[in-house]
Amino acid sequence: MSPRGWAALTLAVLVVAGLVTLVLLVPWHRPPAPRADQLAALRDLPPEQVARAREFRGALRPGSWSALLLGLLVALLLGLTPLGARLVELAGRPFGGHWIAQALLGGLAVVLVAELVTLPFAVWRRTVLTRYGLRTDTWSDWTLDLVKSYALSAIVGAVALLGFYTVLRLAPRWWWAFGAAGAAGLVVLLSFVLPVLVEPVFNRFTPLADGPLRTEVMELAARDGVPVRDVLVADASRRTRAVNAYVSGFGPTRRVVVYDTLLHEATPAEVTSVVAHELSHAKHHDVLVGTVTGALGAAAAVVGLYLVGSWPPLLRLAGVESIREPTAFPLLLALVTLVGLVATPAQAAVSRLVEARADAHALALTGDPATFEAMQRRLATANLADPDPPRWEYLYSATHPSMVERVAAARAHARKAPR
Ligand SMILES: [Zn+2]
Repeated sequence: MSPRGWAALTLAVLVVAGLVTLVLLVPWHRPPAPRADQLAALRDLPPEQVARAREFRGALRPGSWSALLLGLLVALLLGLTPLGARLVELAGRPFGGHWIAQALLGGLAVVLVAELVTLPFAVWRRTVLTRYGLRTDTWSDWTLDLVKSYALSAIVGAVALLGFYTVLRLAPRWWWAFGAAGAAGLVVLLSFVLPVLVEPVFNRFTPLADGPLRTEVMELAARDGVPVRDVLVADASRRTRAVNAYVSGFGPTRRVVVYDTLLHEATPAEVTSVVAHELSHAKHHDVLVGTVTGALGAAAAVVGLYLVGSWPPLLRLAGVESIREPTAFPLLLALVTLVGLVATPAQAAVSRLVEARADAHALALTGDPATFEAMQRRLATANLADPDPPRWEYLYSATHPSMVERVAAARAHARKAPR
């Protein structure tokens, strides 16, 4: 069988493996959250709070969608016209057009251009967040954060670009196989080291201080059968007033993190309710499952790029002879951007199911739907979330059930299991 034949077979196997993972590990049954309860929950909120949240979300919307559209247009312009290939050549020219210079500097230049065109929207977004009191950092702190994230992306990007184009040269016929394995490995590695290498670049983490809350949280984890070494507090208040908690990493790097803003704002019972939700993510290995699906997706993307990328009309559009040249990188990036655009709503839908399960877990574990509901109200207030967002936006990008859905699920749970 030819390398193309093997690639097609590998792609089929990866797609089936990904689908099997999803079918088996995604909690497809979503606990009920009747629309009548949702509407009642919406009516229970102060109208001025709902209006303010909608005004805020409406103020963010034009910038977010414009940034998405402009990012897509630039990616397509660079990838589906010879412009991107010329940019890569230009970046390699001071080094005699050496392939390493083209791969590394050209690749980073293309990514940087795509980043810079959306930078004005990021600036604008920050001004809106500040105007509504959500952002608390200074412009210099914000700029420092931005530079740090560019630097981190440049490091990861440089490793990926150099690795990718080295493999392309060493194995011109089978690069897609090594590339797929490398991409999957990189996804797993990044997710694993994220909490210990990346997150500390942006925040300080301290163990939750000894006291009744810590005792309660550790007891809850023990009752839930989830081994939690520590609950960490992030100094999120240095840049935001939003409240949040999350689980990141897996195996030895797994951690439950709560924002210090949450500890300041919420009652201990509400914090416990949030931690109970996070314990579900830990118990069901949601980060690991997400990482494995992501790794399968990355591997499939590399094989798919190999199969699609040798299509002559595409190469002609991009003004390159072969997908293996560093000048074809903008074409690869354009294809990846397109796939990402389509994948976003699917990822969001899966995420909402996982989050709904975590809510159900929190309700069952704490047996306290009233506190859960109070916490949801507080989350929506502090984060200026639209309690019942427009359907199209919800379907495209909402990673969590809406506030009214979460409250409705709590009320339905309370009816089913009265205390
Ligand atoms: Zn969650």
